[in-house]
This record gives sequence, C-alpha cells and structure tokens, in this order.
Amino acid sequence: MVSHISSRSAPDVASDQAAGGGSFPPLQMCSDEERMMRETVKKYAQECIAPVVSKMDENSTMDKEVIKSLFEQGLMGIEIDPEYGGTGSSFFSSILVIEELAKVDPSVAVLCDIQNTLINTLFTKLGTPAQKEQYLNRLSTDTIGSFCLSEAQSGSDAFALKTRAEKHKDYYIINGSKMWISNAEQAGVFLVMANVDPTAGYRGITCFIVDRDTEGLEICKKENKLGLRASSTCPLNFDNVKVPEKNILGQVSHGYKYAIGMLNEGRIGIASQMLGLAQGCFDHTIPYTRQREQFGKRIFDFQGMQHQIAHVATQIEAARLLTYNAARLKEAGRPFIKEACMAKYFAAEVATLTTSKCIEWMGGVGFTKDYPIEKYYRDCKIGTIYEGTTNIQLSTMAKFIDKEYDH
Ligand SMILES: Cc1cc2nc3c(=O)[nH]c(=O)nc-3n(C[C@H](O)[C@H](O)[C@H](O)COP(=O)(O)OP(=O)(O)OC[C@H]3O[C@@H](n4cnc5c(N)ncnc54)[C@H](O)[C@@H]3O)c2cc1C
Repeated sequence: MVSHISSRSAPDVASDQAAGGGSFPPLQMCSDEERMMRETVKKYAQECIAPVVSKMDENSTMDKEVIKSLFEQGLMGIEIDPEYGGTGSSFFSSILVIEELAKVDPSVAVLCDIQNTLINTLFTKLGTPAQKEQYLNRLSTDTIGSFCLSEAQSGSDAFALKTRAEKHKDYYIINGSKMWISNAEQAGVFLVMANVDPTAGYRGITCFIVDRDTEGLEICKKENKLGLRASSTCPLNFDNVKVPEKNILGQVSHGYKYAIGMLNEGRIGIASQMLGLAQGCFDHTIPYTRQREQFGKRIFDFQGMQHQIAHVATQIEAARLLTYNAARLKEAGRPFIKEACMAKYFAAEVATLTTSKCIEWMGGVGFTKDYPIEKYYRDCKIGTIYEGTTNIQLSTMAKFIDKEYDH
C-alpha cells in the first residue's frame, strides 16, 4: 500500500540551487514522495490491473478486485487527510497516479481521477465536520462517489440543467434526471447539482449529497460505449427523492461556482489520463517496431518511421509539460485555468494522434484485439468530450487571451 504521506513538499528547490540548477527545478523533477508514489503505482498497475484489462473491456465491467485493490493501495483517497483514512498526499501526486494508471487502463484511471479530483476535493473543501466524518472515511476506504452535473438537454451548457430541488421544512425533494454519470454503477454516493430556484437561473444551482440507497433514486442501464468500456456511464432518475437539508454540500445556490471550480481542476486530471494513455500506447508499440523486420531491416530503422516516432514522442513530452505545469500552478495557488484548458485540449489531441499512429506503425496486428493498441485508440476519443469538450476548452482559453490584451 502507498504509505500515508504527511509532507506535501514539492521538489527540493534548495538542493537544486546548490547543484547549480537555477531557481526552479525542471517541471519533470519530482519530490522523493512523488517519485515513490509513481513507482509504487506503476508496479501495482502492472501486477494487479494489466492482467484483467482486456477482459474488463470485453465484458464492459470493472473488476471488483481492481476496485478493492485501488482502495487498499490508498489510491481512492490520495489527498484525504489520514485523520479520515486517506493517504494525505498532494494534488500533483494524484496527477502522477492518474497518469500511471492510464498507461495501463484509462478506465481505471478515470475511476481514480473523478474520486480524487472532484468528489474528495468537494467534500474536503466544502464539507461540514459531520459530512467529512461521515463521507471522507468511506471515500478513502470503500465508497465510490459520482459527480452528477450533465443532463440530456444540458451538456456543454451545463448550467441550463433542469433537475429541481424543492424546499420543504428541513428537507428537499429532488425530481429530474442526469445523463452520462461516470462510475454510477458502483457508486455509493452521488453529488447532485439541482436547482432550488429556477427563477434565479444558474444561481439557484445547489450541490446535494445523495446516498445510493435513497428512495426514488434510480440508476439506469449503463451506456454501451465506443471506449472506456470498463468504466460505467449511466443515466440517473430522481423521482421525489427526499434529501435532508443537512445533505447540502457548501452553500445553497453556490453549486454552479463549485462545479466550475472543480471542473477547472478536474481538467488537469483528464489531461493526465490522456497523457498516460498516449504514453502507454507508445510504450507498447515502439518495442514492436524494433523487432518487426521488413525489407531485411527493423521497421524502426526506416527514416520515414523514425521521423514520425520522434514527432509523436515530442508531442507526448509537450503534453506532459503542459499537464505538470498546470498541476504545479494549481498546487502553488497561482492562476491555472487557461493552462489547465490548454493541457486538457492538447493532451487529448496528442492521445488521438499517438494512438492512430501506433496502429499504423503496427500494421495489420495493430488493428486486431491481439494487441492493446486498438483499445487505446477507442479509449482516447473521450478526452475531447468530457469535463468540457475541445471547443469549450478553446473558448475558455480565448476568453483569457482576449483579457490579456485589454491593456
Ligand atoms: C463517457 C462519458 C462520461 C461522462 N461522465 C460524466 C460525469 O461523470 N458527470 C457529468 O456530469 N457528466 C459526464 N459526462 C458528460 C460530458 O461532460 C458531456 O458529454 C460533455 O460536457 C458534452 O456535452 P454533450 O454531450 O451534451 O455535447 P454538446 O454540449 O451537445 O456538444 C456537442 C458539440 O457541440 C459543440 N458545442 C457545444 N457548445 C458549443 C459552443 N458554445 N461553442 C462551440 N462548440 C460548442 C461541442 O464542442 C461538441 O462538439 C460524461 C460523458 C461521457 C461521454
């Protein structure tokens, strides 16, 4: 298991300066704790996840043992305080963990990603002491959380959501439905965005904690998807779901702010998922190009191949730097929204390019299920869609760029 880590230190700047390395360490330089986390997860993913990836994809099911082991490894409560059973590590460590998991299985990575970058963070930042006590312990040990914002008619325009929460004495009644809810099949708790005052528009959106066994909550049949098949994605129905007032997370009518804030951070997690996916696919492919011979030599030795391979390796490196930079900025309390959008947008593009090229470099076998390349190719497409489509990332970046030239 990843040991409980109390210090949140970034790379050791002082020792770097002593070594003549300048004021700031290179972006890829990790602290000892971060390195340890990455190595432990790399080993764990190879041993416990890799053997079941293909079966989970084929059956569209997340292996229960995989879920259990993620909790046992402390990977579902990476930033949660050890007081609540968490690992007590940093946001950057979460990003490294997501990258390592995605190298092996992007479906497992998104399970870990949503739990750590959205659910746990919301509870940690906004929870009352009683909510933290009740939920953080479970989230770090055995309970998956789902983030419920999207609806059939409100995707990119998320705050046009129609799910309604009507106030009664000391409770609310929720009616409506949600779409595309990741990990809903296995989740024990749902963070649900519902509007308490539609006349106020998006300013009525409020975040509710809804337990799985609440009467009136229906988790519907999961979607049959192109990729990320082991990750469940389900519609939810809310039919007069009674939720006590004490289950409001944060303040009434502040849900839209929380959702924006969380998704800004969450995008760095998705960037990391796409980065890991691209790297994992590349790592499977290059050894093949070094072994496979045509025209009496390794296919790697053709200059036409080498230039493509070097180009893709550069793109992956650039995606890593954008992702790590956004994560370090966020962790340092600096503005990071534009950089997070750039990282997510670019990493998704790079994952698309890499997986497509890898299939081509493998030739016919890359197109079969005998190798994992075609799965990476299917899995990568989601990177341009969830937690803000590519167009939405570009629009957000453009807003920042426009402002930068105001003066
Ligand atoms: C596998 C999967 C898992 C998901 N998990 C979750 C989850 O856990 N929780 C959750 O709440 N949601 C989740 N989602 C929903 C996801 O966030 C939405 O699908 C996404 O925000 C896009 O919304 P949409 O599908 O309605 O597409 P639309 O918003 O209808 O977009 C369709 C196209 O129109 C473009 N477009 C829309 N508006 C603009 C604009 N203003 N400018 C330019 N182009 C525009 C988009 O870029 C896109 O190309 C998930 C989705 C999938 C597929």
